[in-house]
Parts: sequence; C-alpha cells; structure tokens
Amino acid sequence: MSKVLVIGAGGVGSVAVHKMAMNPDIFSEVHLASRTVSKCDAIAASVRERTGVTVPTYAVDAEEIAEMTKLIEKVDPRLVVNLALPYQDLAIMEACLRTGVDYMDTANYEPREEAKFEYRWQWEYHDRFKAKGLMALLGSGFDPGVTSVFAMWLKKHRLKTIRTLDILDCNGGDHGQAFATNFNPEINIREVTAPARHWENGEWVETPAMAVKREFDFEAVGPKNMYMMYHEELESLARFVPEMERARFWMTFGDEYIKHLTVLQNVGMTRIDPVMYQGHEIIPLQFLKAVLPEPASLGSTTKGKTNIGDIATGEALDGSGEKTFYIRNICDHEDAYAETGNQAVSYTTGVPAMIGAAMMLTGKWKGEGVFNMEQFDPDPFMDMLNEHGLPWKVEELDGPLPF
Ligand code: NDP
Repeated sequence: MSKVLVIGAGGVGSVAVHKMAMNPDIFSEVHLASRTVSKCDAIAASVRERTGVTVPTYAVDAEEIAEMTKLIEKVDPRLVVNLALPYQDLAIMEACLRTGVDYMDTANYEPREEAKFEYRWQWEYHDRFKAKGLMALLGSGFDPGVTSVFAMWLKKHRLKTIRTLDILDCNGGDHGQAFATNFNPEINIREVTAPARHWENGEWVETPAMAVKREFDFEAVGPKNMYMMYHEELESLARFVPEMERARFWMTFGDEYIKHLTVLQNVGMTRIDPVMYQGHEIIPLQFLKAVLPEPASLGSTTKGKTNIGDIATGEALDGSGEKTFYIRNICDHEDAYAETGNQAVSYTTGVPAMIGAAMMLTGKWKGEGVFNMEQFDPDPFMDMLNEHGLPWKVEELDGPLPF
C-alpha cells in the first residue's frame, strides 16, 4: 500500500499531485485536501484529464488538529505530504502522531506573529516520532530541499569537506505583471523583508535585509542582480555539514520587484503585526496578499527559466587540493506549465516534494524520528531528479566566487 494524503491545493500541491499521479507504481492512490475544496477539485480535474487518475478530494482546516486527525483516519494513508503553509506544520505533525502516519513537508514551521525561519519547533518532535516508530522528513522542496541534496552529493562524489557554500537561486522568468510573487506572497514577502543571515566561522552573521547585492551571470538567463538573504536550509546545512567555514544564500530580484517592495515596506504594508482598521484587526501583509495576483494565475503568462544551484569549495576527494564545483538545475517556465499547468517555481518545488515522498514510500530513505534532507544518501534522490523533469549538471569552476 502506498496511499498518500496531500494537504494544500496551491501551485506546489498541484505539481506534486500531478507528478504522483504520473507514477502509479510508487503512489497507488493520491488523495488531496485543502481549505478550499473547489481548488482541490480543479486540480483533480486536471490530473484526470492529463493522466486518467482519479484523486479524491476533501475540505480541511489543517490548523485544527482534531479535524486533521479525523481526515487522516478516514483516508488511512501511509504518508501525509504537507504542501499547505508553514503555519500548519505543527498541527499536521500532531495529527500524524495521533494516527501513526509518516509526515513530510517543504517549509519549516512559522509562528504567524514573527518571521523566524527556524527548524527548532519541528526538531523538538524528534523523540515523539521516534518513540512511535514514525518518520518525518522536513523541507523536501527545491530550496530547502534539492539545494541540500546537491551539497551532500558534492560531499559524497567530489569533495571530502566543504569549506564554503553559496546557494544561488535565480528566477529569470517574466510574468508580465508590475509586481507579483512566484509563490505564496505572504511567505515570500516575510522571507525577503527579514534580516539577512549567513553562517561564518561557527556563528550567524546578520545584515539588514537586501543590503548585500552582487551580479552573477546565470546560464540560460544572463547577468542578474542577486541579494544575500537568510534561507532555512542554511540552518540544517550548518548542523549537518559542521566543517563549513561559510554558507550563504542568494536570490535574484529585478529592479521593479525591489522598487515595489521598498515602497510597500516603507508604507507599512508588509507588517505582520495586527493594526486596527474600521473596528477590525487586520494584518497588513495578509491584506496585501489578498490584492496581489495569485501565484497560480501567473503560470500561463510566465516565460523564461529558473536556474538554482550550489557552488561549493573544499578539499577534493581525490586528494588534488582545493576545488570548486557548481551544481545546478535549469527549468523552463513554459515547459513546466505545459506539463502540469503550473509555472517553474511551483514545479521546482512540487517535483522534489513528489521525490521526497517516493524516497519514503520505497524505503530508500528511512528512519524513526524527524529528519532533514542532509541525513540521507543523495544518490537515489538525484537519480529521480534526472528522471522526473529536473535534470542537473555539475562542472568544476576555476576557483571560488570572487566575493
Ligand atoms: P499557495 O498559497 O499557492 O497554496 C497553499 C495552499 O494551502 C492553498 O491551497 C491554501 O488554501 C492551503 N491552506 C492554507 N491554509 C490552510 C489550512 N489552514 N488548512 C488547509 N489548507 C490550507 O502556496 P504554494 O503552493 O506556493 O506553497 C506551498 C508550500 O510550499 C508553502 O509552505 C511554501 O512555503 C512552500 N514552498 C517551498 C519551496 C521550497 O523550495 N522548499 C518553494 C516554494 C514554496 P486556500 O487556497 O483555501 O487559501
């Protein structure tokens, strides 16, 4: 039996469910639940049209543990794949513990009132999952997710140790809108407006948000400005690759995006604390999300490519001294849309979510407790990336990044 219950009918959920349905030898049944059942039904209709597979759908408020527990009991899956929002992670983990079912997600738990991006709350579940003989896999998207698997692959096949690591996330896509985010706007804007943090000599170094900017020439995209920011895989990488002297994360943003974001921030629209408006408490960022385009609606108009990868420098495995390798995937927005009806940012997250679930269901990755991507053999995951739409390549660079 390899029945899965997916929670969350956004862009990522849509891609993952399409990809699971395309692999019935691993996923014998795929069930989909989310807050708005009509969104699940629309995904199920597309899956049926593209693959012939029927996906049963349900409405659930995943933040209500009792409701989630009841749904898991009804569906009786082997694995719950959480592709809703980071706010729901702990409630879904609790429901998995109550029902004795494995858990997986693509983003770490976030308290609503403060942008933290920390694994602490979920790592604290380790002993309870272990005691029940259950497995939880955290962060099986692209970043976090594949970027950690890339680092572990380099550590297994090219470098004895990683001295410095830079993760470069470039979205060279153009959606034709003045301002929109490629995934959930609330989460995206929380992420980019938080202070930047990177790992250096055993500690976190904080800099103001978007203060460090560098240009990089991305293959298949061209030169782009990228900004140093904090991203959650830095925390698990620092924990599981302890020899790293420095680890940084960079993301590209166009000048238009920065201009709009700066104004929104200056006028207070990105605040996540409640303000009173006409007798009601509202969270400005949640209101902003309501007026921005839904990321899922950008799929049909987005053109261009994403290019996400790791540059790692360290001692070569073959004893030939210090070497630098660049490992990356390039994904085309229009190809992603043609295959699943979603643009490449959802695609590059939904495919690794399917692969992480496949690792668990096939037993290629197994354990009791709460795990991060760095803790397993990267090879079977990397093979599936090549086979299921996210091919990668690795090359040796002349030296580390000049900055
Ligand atoms: P969307 O906002 O498009 O979708 C989220 C879905 O979750 C929506 O269908 C929403 O329902 C549903 N949802 C929200 N709250 C609840 C709730 N209480 N109960 C049940 N369902 C709920 O987001 P994305 O698809 O873009 O992203 C999904 C997840 O993937 C996020 O956690 C995001 O942070 C993560 N992500 C990870 C990446 C990675 O590389 N690791 C990259 C991109 C995203 P409704 O439609 O009714 O609002």
